[in-house]
Amino acid sequence: MDIRSQFPILEQQVYGHPLVYFDNAATTQKPLSVIETLRRYYTTINSNIHRGAHFLAAKATDEYEQTRRTVQHFIGARHSHEIVFTRGTTESINLVASSFGERYLGEGDEVVVSGMEHHSNIVPWQLACGRKGARLRVIPFGDDGVLDLEAFRSLLNEHTRIVAVTHVSNTLGTVNPVREIVDIAHSRGVPVLVDGAQAISHMAVDVQAIGCDFYCFSGHKMYGPMGVGVMYGREEILEELPPYQGGGEMIKDVSFEVTTYNELPFKFEAGTPSVGDVLGLDTAIGFMQDLGLDNIASHERELTEYATRRLMEVDGLRVYGTAPMKTSVLSFLIGSSHPYDVGTLLDKLGIAVRTGHHCTQPVMTRYGIPGTVRASFAIYNTKDEVDCLVNALQRIAPMLA
Ligand code: PLP
Repeated sequence: MDIRSQFPILEQQVYGHPLVYFDNAATTQKPLSVIETLRRYYTTINSNIHRGAHFLAAKATDEYEQTRRTVQHFIGARHSHEIVFTRGTTESINLVASSFGERYLGEGDEVVVSGMEHHSNIVPWQLACGRKGARLRVIPFGDDGVLDLEAFRSLLNEHTRIVAVTHVSNTLGTVNPVREIVDIAHSRGVPVLVDGAQAISHMAVDVQAIGCDFYCFSGHKMYGPMGVGVMYGREEILEELPPYQGGGEMIKDVSFEVTTYNELPFKFEAGTPSVGDVLGLDTAIGFMQDLGLDNIASHERELTEYATRRLMEVDGLRVYGTAPMKTSVLSFLIGSSHPYDVGTLLDKLGIAVRTGHHCTQPVMTRYGIPGTVRASFAIYNTKDEVDCLVNALQRIAPMLA
């Protein structure tokens, strides 16, 4: 398959230069097949799901529920009702923090997160802790961006109620040993949520092999549409959690005196979901499976290794995040320049990178820096584009000194 021709957005010029899109950790571009699914949904089957007795409602419901099974198999879940559709990783984590916090957190309890979490895996827990008088504990990481598992072990105690860690750091690229983290936590009877936002498009994920209790991700970071995400939760634990939001579809019976809740997964899917986007997620998964998860991983590994080597040719460039296990995220600074200045100059040369704290302010505090320039790669990126970035950096470096 000619991959780039599947992504029309990449064909354009920006400020007279061919677009080089290196902001994939923020969101990936969408292949034609996903765009076509959205068009087909809105031109042929748009309808509200589950409640209608007519042809379109039945078809939309069938495809929506088929996507649930697609996701189940994609991440190796035991049951399709363990897959809950949300708006994205942020909503998925808020759902767990809110429902789990409501049911299990109390005064003096502790929630363990890591020092490299996205704000989406910090703030929902802070809010839950604040409501219940619990507190956050933080797993530190070394200069290379590797989590300190000894420190993690020593953080676990009889007050720990849950561990919430990212599978892959969106700033440092570190792939965390989630299986080991789960084993350590489970040996103390503590459940684990894994934030999979930055892992899901880069490697094969099997939630049963990881053994986690929750796994959260966003469609838009895996070639799918914005507006859809997934919260996977183990059946036994989901059964015990109270609903997150109240509304249509999540109920069995409602009276003014008492309401009983629907079965899984509907208990957690209040209101009308973004049906077309869910169908687009199905197509995005098909796109990745057609390419092969292993092929995607090896292409991106090769590109990351090449880019890491070539970036070293730029005077004064420092990379943040040098863990042996990394995905395709490269965070760097040049000399004492501000990341925003680097990003702005690159933009004028048609190169899209992200600058700033990447919603991981504690990571920046850890290194004592205001932010980084982040280039992140996807399956459609090429070595030529990396060369283009390196040439541009060499060109602008003297302006930054
Ligand atoms: N977690 C990580 C590691 C992320 O990188 C991101 C987004 O960048 C999120 C959570 C939040 O994802 P979303 O904005 O799609 O909800």
